Amino acid sequence: ELHRLEEFRDLPAATRDGEKVILRANIGLISDVNIALRNGAEGVGLYRTEFPYMTRGSFPDRDDQYQLYRKVVENFPDYPVTIRTLDIGGDKGLPYFSPPREDNPFMGWRSVRVSLDNRDIFRTQIEAILMAGAHGPVKLLFPMISGMEEVHACREVIEEARANLRREGTPFASHVPTGIMIEVPSAVQMAEQLAREVDFFALGTNDLIQYMLAADRNNPLVNKYYDPLHPAVLHALAQVTDVARRQGIGLCLCGEMASDPMNFLVLYGLGMREFSMPAPFIPRIKAFLRDLDSAVAIKAARDVLTLSESAKIRAYLIEVLKEIE
Ligand code: PEP
Ligand code: MG
Repeated sequence: ELHRLEEFRDLPAATRDGEKVILRANIGLISDVNIALRNGAEGVGLYRTEFPYMTRGSFPDRDDQYQLYRKVVENFPDYPVTIRTLDIGGDKGLPYFSPPREDNPFMGWRSVRVSLDNRDIFRTQIEAILMAGAHGPVKLLFPMISGMEEVHACREVIEEARANLRREGTPFASHVPTGIMIEVPSAVQMAEQLAREVDFFALGTNDLIQYMLAADRNNPLVNKYYDPLHPAVLHALAQVTDVARRQGIGLCLCGEMASDPMNFLVLYGLGMREFSMPAPFIPRIKAFLRDLDSAVAIKAARDVLTLSESAKIRAYLIEVLKEIE
């Protein structure tokens, strides 16, 4: 099986009828880069930069961050690397940065909210990302966006970072596409307006599912409520996909759900063509894609959107999968 999967590494990801799909890697630590390359990832769709912050004793300075991002970028000369700004809080803590105790950390002071309240740290990270962009195609991604104000605030910090680098005479990328995670339900509702402000959306289903269904992504007691195939989730994903397509902006789904063939079938059928996942799943999805006809997936997605219970959705998809594999 493993051997068969390795054969897929250098083949393009495409359906049986030749529709191309882009499969990128989610990475955190620098060791994930080799795993991504070994599995034939077309670049990085999600670089979780909090990981390098977590393994240190203090905030890395700008040059440390720049060197690290540069190393990642140089490993993918032909493909973009999407670098996400700090997403700490919730389940991800930093040993040297203790946030106040909160009753609801996932709904609390986390992610871009922490960044916006620590402008210097935030600007420094953005400067490092723009500097890395001088060495290859980089995209800049902001997590946990819940509305327009944060997009404007983030853009202001980008402008500060650019002005700073320009003043110093430090080389940096003149154009870095900027995107936001769609992982808070309000961002789904605002997708139409948000799409006019950014170059791309990154669908963060790990959080979107937990926030839509009010089910903690890490709590086994509510695991059955944490359901990627819940009709409400699928309708939200369909809506975001349609907005991105109509407005002609990029869309990449980088939640874990894409690495499961049953989910993938629906996501593809909804119209998504770019995914980012833990790299070891890429060959498996490529193999699945080569047996898949677009028309089958599109029909399946259309059909499941008419169903109002996830048990029925699942049962339906199991039948579709039987025909494919
Ligand atoms: C997500 O929320 O789906 C996501 C990709 O980001 P993270 O898992 O880092 O929260
Ligand atoms: Mg998230």
